[in-house]
Amino acid sequence: MKSAIWLALVFVTTASAGWTQTLTDETSYTVQGATPEREATLRRQIQVMHPPVLPYRIRFVPHWQYLNASRVYQLHVPRGMTSKMFTHLPSRSVFVDEDRYMGEEWLGHWMAHELGHLATNSTKEEDAERVAREYRIRLQAAVKETSSSASRN
Ligand SMILES: [Zn+2]
Repeated sequence: MKSAIWLALVFVTTASAGWTQTLTDETSYTVQGATPEREATLRRQIQVMHPPVLPYRIRFVPHWQYLNASRVYQLHVPRGMTSKMFTHLPSRSVFVDEDRYMGEEWLGHWMAHELGHLATNSTKEEDAERVAREYRIRLQAAVKETSSSASRN
């Protein structure tokens, strides 16, 4: 019964694009190594993207540590698209290469991809991107809403 109510709430939340309150527990994941501003930005973005599966933790690390982590997890980090972040699915950890940080838009764009891996529980880039496209639409809608009602904040 409880879960049925919860599911109903989730659907209501998903259906209304302009909700002001989130029903998911946005504090149920940890963010490590980020400045308070970046952490706040990231949490806001993830709230907007509203992924069905949250990471357990997101770690901002210096480049050398990022490379080290990818080695420890025996991941091949392709040059190209995923070389700024990667997700270790078994531990639901997302690593962000802090030295590559290029601003809010960058963060949202690539976090959408990593959340796509988590949502699909797949290491395939095309699976992640399929979901990421939807997340990016939500992000853009939120940006538009914020700029059209800037006085609210
Ligand atoms: Zn990827």
